[in-house]
Amino acid sequence: MDRLILFDTTLRDGEQAPGFSMRLPDKVRMARALERLGVDVIEAGFPAASADDRRAVRAVADHIERAVVCGLARCVPADIDAAAQALQSAARPRLHVFLATSAIHRQHKLKMAKEQILALTREGVARARSHVDDVEFSPEDASRTERGFLGEVVQAAVEAGATTINIPDTVGYATPTEFESLFAWLLAHVPGLDGVTLSAHCHDDLGLAVSNSLAAVRGGARQVECTINGIGERAGNCALEELVMALRTRPGQFGDVSTRIDSTCLVSTSRLLSSITGVSVPPNKAIVGKNAFAHEAGIHQHGVLAHASTYEIMRPEQVGFDGQRLVLGKHSGRHALRQRVHSLGQELEEAAFERLFAAFKDLADRKGEVLDDDILALIVGDRQGCAWSLSRLQTSAGTDRVSTATVCVQHRDGSAVDEAATGDGPIDATFRAMTRATGYHDTQLDDYNVRSVTWGEDALGQVTVSVRRGDAVVRGSAVSTDVIEASANAILDVINRLEGTAAGGAS
Ligand code: MN
Repeated sequence: MDRLILFDTTLRDGEQAPGFSMRLPDKVRMARALERLGVDVIEAGFPAASADDRRAVRAVADHIERAVVCGLARCVPADIDAAAQALQSAARPRLHVFLATSAIHRQHKLKMAKEQILALTREGVARARSHVDDVEFSPEDASRTERGFLGEVVQAAVEAGATTINIPDTVGYATPTEFESLFAWLLAHVPGLDGVTLSAHCHDDLGLAVSNSLAAVRGGARQVECTINGIGERAGNCALEELVMALRTRPGQFGDVSTRIDSTCLVSTSRLLSSITGVSVPPNKAIVGKNAFAHEAGIHQHGVLAHASTYEIMRPEQVGFDGQRLVLGKHSGRHALRQRVHSLGQELEEAAFERLFAAFKDLADRKGEVLDDDILALIVGDRQGCAWSLSRLQTSAGTDRVSTATVCVQHRDGSAVDEAATGDGPIDATFRAMTRATGYHDTQLDDYNVRSVTWGEDALGQVTVSVRRGDAVVRGSAVSTDVIEASANAILDVINRLEGTAAGGAS
């Protein structure tokens, strides 16, 4: 049986999608969860793209021991060197170099002839190999590249020392039969592919990312690039959880391959990402959606109770749904919480753990039972070290009156500011009062979302806001059992990011 390498790009392609940016400490949390899940390669960012990306790749490289940590680079020396630099502390570094090869990209984007593309490929891969032994090359828009030329580029990259060749369906245009035959064709026609891993990177523009990835495996791919919850550019990437469970549930259908994934961590990893980004998965999402194992129709419920396999092709425990049961209550102590944090794949320093314990006790008092998702939301929601904090909030609203908000915010330097405002509803009033109090009245509330972290009438609500200031849009989030309080703290989260002093310094 062959090993299928799982390459996770949640922190790169996923994070690149609008509304999915993550702060540095959250990227490290996510990377740890991915390592615990058992992914083989973590693509941590695109170091040449920004200083934040460089810092993130460095931080992930510092914290990950077993998985390969990968940095993306365009096929230009400065990018490749920046990625190599950011990966210096990685136990197992990989450089991922890409260059577009399709006629559309050659003519309209790069304005380069085929010969130039081949020369750049050789130079870029060789330069990457001068830094590290593990080099991946991606001919961008491969699925729309002429087969013969794609073969030439792949051969050039392999000759220059690439150890993985990734075939991206950059725009989500491929179909399963076509994609399978492309991999089989490359293996049959390109010399020197022995000992080189072929990889698939699919996008979901036509809803085919998982199908195309599985087809690639049938065609001979031995690495698949995917993301948690399928996040990524536009319609997203191949969803890791769907790919893994398709391989587990239908072994032999896609070639004789196995992964190292611990599928019982799929749900908690999916929930951690939702807590970090403030974006829930739809209830009907395969594998990790709230309804993925819910049997509503009476006849189905009866069948499942009589024998689970009547309507279930997988057991909910297999993907980690049992971890969502009641785990802790207000009588749980530090030891129980510490164990839970550990089993969620998270490591906290002593001070951070004590803050979590206090928040947990507070939540247990309000809500009674505390679930895994609540704990993850509290860990992610820790905003220690920020410039501003909320010390008091009062709102008044109703159908027949103007909404008002009175806030008191405290600055790290000890000063406190009181402010009041009226607005179109209590959240608008709170937004006005908070931005006035902190000197950010030149901002506008662009988008507002609230999601329930778990269920029940006392569930934690996570509020995510987008705030516009000039051309910049900054997102912030916060959790509370009180949605107005969560809204105020989400606004404050944005203000703290604007101050550039939010925990971890990443914005
Ligand atoms: Mn992509």
